[in-house]
Amino acid sequence: MIVVMKKSATEKQAEEVIKQLGEYGFSAHVSAGAEQTVIGAIGVRPDFDIRKIKIMDGVGDVFKVTEPFKLASRSFRKENTLIKVKDVTFGGNEVIAISGPCAIENEEQVFAIAEIVSSAGVRVLRGGAFKPRSSPYAFQGLGEEGLKLIRAAADRYDLVVVTEVLESAQVDLVNTYTDIFQVGARNMQNFPLLKELGKFKKPVLLKRGFSATIEELLMSAEYILASGNPDVILCERGIRTFETYTRNTFDLSAIPVVQGRSHLPIIADPSHAVGLRQLVPAMARAAAASGADGIMLEVHHEPKKALSDGPQALLPGQFRELMEQLRSIVSVLGRRLA
Ligand code: PEP
Ligand code: MN
Repeated sequence: MIVVMKKSATEKQAEEVIKQLGEYGFSAHVSAGAEQTVIGAIGVRPDFDIRKIKIMDGVGDVFKVTEPFKLASRSFRKENTLIKVKDVTFGGNEVIAISGPCAIENEEQVFAIAEIVSSAGVRVLRGGAFKPRSSPYAFQGLGEEGLKLIRAAADRYDLVVVTEVLESAQVDLVNTYTDIFQVGARNMQNFPLLKELGKFKKPVLLKRGFSATIEELLMSAEYILASGNPDVILCERGIRTFETYTRNTFDLSAIPVVQGRSHLPIIADPSHAVGLRQLVPAMARAAAASGADGIMLEVHHEPKKALSDGPQALLPGQFRELMEQLRSIVSVLGRRLA
C-alpha cells in the first residue's frame, strides 16, 4: 500500500500515519521529497480497508498495490487451472463451446436443440430450469422437471450439462442432474450460495454481475476456492453502462485482464451481452479472437416461441455457420474449438 501525504501535511501527521500503520501490522518505508512525503506500507493484509488510512489527517491518497484475492491469483498459481468435465477440459488449448436454449421449456424443445448443438460439434449443453427473471410474472423455469429433461437430452447426445442454481437450498437438487453449476450474474455476490458450492467437487461457472468490477468477480471466485472447490470457470456476460442500443456492454477486455491476473479459465457469453440475435455473431467472433477459453451461445429451434430470451437466440442455420467461423478464428491462435 502506498500512502501519499498532502503537500500541506505536517511532520507530526506523517509520524502519526507511520505509527498507525505499525499498529495495523505494516512496516513503513518513508520517502520524504522536497514537497511531499510518500509512505510505502509493507505487509500482506489482503483484507485491509485502506479507508482506515485515507481518513487520517494529512493523508492525500492511498493506493493498494497487492490484489485482495489470493487463491484466484496468478501469483498463487502460475500455470492455468485445467478443469476437466467428462471429455471436456476448460483452460487448456481447446476453446469450449457451450450452447443451448435460455430456458428448458418442454421435452420436444430441449431434445430438438440438443440435436442441433451436438451436430454442430458442441460438447456442452446449457439451459436453465430455474430462471432468474426480472419480472415475477415471467416464466420462472420448469424446476426439477426441467433438470430431468436437460439431463435426458444431454445423455441422449453424450453432452455435458451446465444449468443454473439460484439459491443454497437448491444446490443438492441441481447437483443430482448437472455436470457444472452455473451461478448467474444476479447471484455473483450471493455469498452463502458461493460458500455452499465451495463444498462440492463439481465445477462452477460463475458469471460476472452486470455492475461488478473484474476484481469483484475474482473475489467471488475466491469465496468458492476458499470454501474448498478449486474448479471455477469465470464468464464475461456484459455489464450495464449508459449504452442502450445493446442489452449490456460486452466488456471483452475482461478476458485478457483476467487471464493476466488469474489462473482460472474465463469464457465469454455474447448472447446476454448484446441481447439481439443479429449482433451476436460479430461479438462471438470477437470473443473467440480475444482469447476466451470458451464461448456460450443461446440457440433455439423456434425462437419466436421461446419463453425467455428468444430475441437473442441464434437460429439453427446461423448457429452452424458461426461455429465454422469460430473454428477458423481460434485456429489462427493455435487453438481448437471443442
Ligand atoms: C443465463 O445464462 O441464462 C442467464 C440468466 O444469464 P445471466 O445470469 O448472465 O443474466
Ligand atoms: Mn438467457
